[in-house]
Amino acid sequence: MNCPICGGRATGKVGTDQYFCWNCCVEYRINKEGVQIFELGEDGSLMAFDPYNQQLY
Ligand SMILES: [Zn+2]
Repeated sequence: MNCPICGGRATGKVGTDQYFCWNCCVEYRINKEGVQIFELGEDGSLMAFDPYNQQLY
């Protein structure tokens, strides 16, 4: 499974349809509706990742 953001392979499965990219430090979920991406907050909580605020795309 390659990371949908960086395309790298530094990913690990953390749950059903949930993956974590060590490169981007984001968690993403893949389902029928597409890819949902979450950032890990400093307190360990998950926040919706907003690609429009990032320079990644
Ligand atoms: Zn990545």
